[in-house]
Amino acid sequence: MTRADHILLLAGTFEARQLAKQLADRFTGVRVMASFAGIVKDLPDLGVPTRVGGFGGIAGLSDFLRSEDVTLVIDATHPFAAQMSRNASEACRTLRLPLIRLERPAWTALPDDDWILFDSMRDAAQALPAHARAFLAVGRKEIGQFTWREDICCLARMIEAPQQPLPAGWDLILRRPPQSSSEEADLLRKHGITHVVTKNSGGERSYAKIEAARSLKLPVLMIDRPQLPEAETAPDLTGVLKKAQELMDRKKF
Ligand code: NAP
Repeated sequence: MTRADHILLLAGTFEARQLAKQLADRFTGVRVMASFAGIVKDLPDLGVPTRVGGFGGIAGLSDFLRSEDVTLVIDATHPFAAQMSRNASEACRTLRLPLIRLERPAWTALPDDDWILFDSMRDAAQALPAHARAFLAVGRKEIGQFTWREDICCLARMIEAPQQPLPAGWDLILRRPPQSSSEEADLLRKHGITHVVTKNSGGERSYAKIEAARSLKLPVLMIDRPQLPEAETAPDLTGVLKKAQELMDRKKF
């Protein structure tokens, strides 16, 4: 690789934080730039140059990739950040740039789990029975899919507050998910939760609520991942680094 080589890391996940450092350590002499959507205010310092905010769709991203001489894009966004992943896929396809997508494996139900699977938030919202007291582990953009249900009462947890206030009687917790299943179980018990609603994000960092639901024998309304375009994928950091190394070796730098 030459000094001009430039990796764009699409961030917004815990893995992206780790990747930024590992890419910079491993590929010395290569520029690594991280990109955040800028929705969350307390952005972590990834230790590499960082830009914040949308690119402006596929066209804006393509302009950015060209003007910054990006030679490799690593998509380490959340599995539900489908728009960004689709844009990255299309821009890289058009510009013939290599793209590696970090795709952490989805959760799968264990024998003691009571899961009901849904393709969309809206379907999950419709399926909640009247008078349910649901724990909604969904984001600020998604909570509006549930607030029309005047016959249920919910506890919602997210990182940034939603734009619209929640219905009267609903509770809101603004924080990242804890990693202790007993802490999650205490929360579900304290709020008298009857159903847990979650995206199938995969990974360990937000799995505690699934374990808690299992221990309390609560049904989980599990929302399936959005479909993404075909891409070179890796399930973890090691896989991404290996594929990035292979790409760079092929260029014989
Ligand atoms: P999204 O729906 O796929 O993206 C919406 C728009 O936000 C994109 O079209 C892009 O705007 C901009 N964007 C998203 N990620 C970006 C990035 N890394 N750098 C620059 N611009 C970005 O994504 P989302 O679901 O709103 O998620 C936003 C961010 O939060 C992502 O980075 C994601 O990794 C993180 N996150 C999402 C979830 C989730 O459940 N969705 C959970 C945890 C973290 P332009 O079209 O203008 O380029």
